[in-house]
Amino acid sequence: MQLTDKIEKSFRLMEAQKKALKKLGLETLKDLLFYFPVRYSDMSEIKAIKDLSDGDVATIYGEVSGLKTKKAFKSKMPMAEGYISDGTGKIKVTWFRQAYIAKMLHDGQKVSLTGKVSDSKYGLTLQNPEFEKTNSLPIDVHNSLFAKDQNEGFHYPVYKETKGITSKWIYHTVHKIVGSGIVKNLEDYIPEEILNRYKLPKLSTALVWVHMPKNKNHSESSRKRFAFEEVFFIQLSRQKEKFENNQKKSFKIKVDEKDIKTFTDKFPFKLTKAQDKAISQIWKDFSGAHPMSRLIEGDVGSGKTAVAATATYSVIKNRPDQKDFGNLQVAYMAPTEILAGQHFEGFTKYFKHTGIQIGLLTGSTCKKFPSKVDPSGATNISKAQLLKWVANGEIPILIGTHSLIYKSVKFKHLALGIVDEQHRFGTKQRAKLANKEGFAPHFLSMTATPIPRTLALTIYGDLDLTLLDQMPEGRKPIITEIITPDKREQTYDFIKEKMAEGRQLYVICPRIDEPDPEKEFALQTKSVKAEAERLKKEIFKDKKIDILHSKMTKTEKEKVMEKFANGEVEILVATSVVEVGVNVPNATMIIIEGAERFGLSQLHQLRGRVIRSNHQAYCYIFSESKNEKSIERLKALKTAKNGFELSELDLKLRGSGDLAGMKQWGVSDLGMEAIKNLKMVEAARKEATNIVEKNLLDDLDLTKTELENRALKIHFE
Ligand code: ADP
Ligand code: MG
Repeated sequence: MQLTDKIEKSFRLMEAQKKALKKLGLETLKDLLFYFPVRYSDMSEIKAIKDLSDGDVATIYGEVSGLKTKKAFKSKMPMAEGYISDGTGKIKVTWFRQAYIAKMLHDGQKVSLTGKVSDSKYGLTLQNPEFEKTNSLPIDVHNSLFAKDQNEGFHYPVYKETKGITSKWIYHTVHKIVGSGIVKNLEDYIPEEILNRYKLPKLSTALVWVHMPKNKNHSESSRKRFAFEEVFFIQLSRQKEKFENNQKKSFKIKVDEKDIKTFTDKFPFKLTKAQDKAISQIWKDFSGAHPMSRLIEGDVGSGKTAVAATATYSVIKNRPDQKDFGNLQVAYMAPTEILAGQHFEGFTKYFKHTGIQIGLLTGSTCKKFPSKVDPSGATNISKAQLLKWVANGEIPILIGTHSLIYKSVKFKHLALGIVDEQHRFGTKQRAKLANKEGFAPHFLSMTATPIPRTLALTIYGDLDLTLLDQMPEGRKPIITEIITPDKREQTYDFIKEKMAEGRQLYVICPRIDEPDPEKEFALQTKSVKAEAERLKKEIFKDKKIDILHSKMTKTEKEKVMEKFANGEVEILVATSVVEVGVNVPNATMIIIEGAERFGLSQLHQLRGRVIRSNHQAYCYIFSESKNEKSIERLKALKTAKNGFELSELDLKLRGSGDLAGMKQWGVSDLGMEAIKNLKMVEAARKEATNIVEKNLLDDLDLTKTELENRALKIHFE
């Protein structure tokens, strides 16, 4: 056996198994070996039904009753459903897409069920639990590895399954691979010194322990190692990037504070302390020898655009090196045409008294401000003309979508790149924006997605962070209410009153958990359509309602958003996955359905859509939950000061497998366990920085190769 061998070469597989392995992304023996258990089951996890609560992962022993097959209500997927009782209570059990289970068990059968308890309309439910008839013990206890001392209890791995592959199959197969001895000689790609420093097991040991722990210590320390490893490699790649960035030359930017003050004094407001601080940090970066790489994190409405405008002004007031004419240039990139258009309008307001030219470049529009004919407004110009003026440096500020990094766009002296509502400038994008003279532009990223500090330290390890953690004064906070089913009617009535005054409404449909994104989008689409129909038929009969979901094309989405922005559409029913970072000041109300399925920071971000107005904004958190803990959790939305606080709460409150809102960061569930641990994150960062700064990577062959292998998979950009 070789680690690079295909699984089917070493094991006889049925067609269904081949398909399932493919779906799980498992091709080689190595893939299987690195397919870690999602958790371990333990006799100590056995609970009485009466003690269960939402979110528990538990094993219960009991008797099956009322087992039947049916079609799931919305998706029409076949499912099995029944009850289990253990003398202390009775709980509903559902197996989605596993209708066959109803045939494998019968009423009265004694079973052990292990799975996650969640709260639903029907009360607490055990969803898709693993089951065992109790006359067979959990994973082959006769098997030597699991023949435990009586008092230790069983501690066996549970793997994520899919149709065709069971957790047991994976366990047994991995067991054989490990048994063949190929793991023993595996060399470690983390330097031994580092492992010793943090008392982490070496790779060959950790692989055995993670799959076949003899006790809890084994599983915990092996998982700790792999969690550390993940953060360590992310850090290594971030620190390397930072190091490389620091080797580049950038434009020297002189900051004329007095002149800039006359610029900011013209703002129709006074900058917040947080904005002032962000601006000084940027100025400090400008004075350094290397290009700035800074990320501004701030809630929606915290005033990031004003900071961007001030940074822009500071840059363009500089002349290119050794020249006494022309300006340094700034590129400002937004994720959608609508947002780019809004930034263009915003910038023309901030800059109108300066006479500075601003260009807008998107897939469909090219504009220039000011217009020669009417200097108070912008004018449409041809793309060729715009590109020419950008290339010869006549237009110092260019705002646009991704089209800014197309080859055809050439700047004369690009000194600053700003990207809005995107997590970061990728290496590739930076390279495309680089200048002919070999100067690297400064980079400023801005995001309204609050994430916990430890996560930021990890995935933004190469960036300097600025938190805009203060809202402009006088802004009315969003009134947030948790709405239980009994208060729905009166809430709809209140919303109708506000709509009669001309306000508009967002309705966000619940998140649907489904590992297959295609299916998830399809289900989401269905629920958005159904909810829009229901609202039209039952609640808002005379209102114009439209929908927004991820199956729509970009153009379709933008069209609907435009209609919503100009009031043609009064209620927008959307999925949570559709980003709507758009300014619709009249949309002052948002309903979030099935709120218990969202993370707090995700709810907070969704709510941010209604903060743009002078009118009082309202956010209605609709929950079907009867569970007090769920409601309690949602109440943090009323008390937390800002998004950062909520993201920390998410990290603390939710199980690692449940940090769905955080999946987008490309960190695995196991890696998230490290993210919960500030010490571990700091240790990984320290070690990675040390390796990069002392230039040790070239001597660490295995580490270097592993880093390269992983870099293919990490996509933060
Ligand atoms: P963000 O991009 O952070 O969501 P914006 O920059 O779009 O926020 O600002 C939101 C609104 O707040 C804008 O209308 C802007 O004019 C206003 N604003 C920005 N800074 C301040 C401030 N210091 N005081 C009052 N209003 C501000
Ligand atoms: Mg913004």
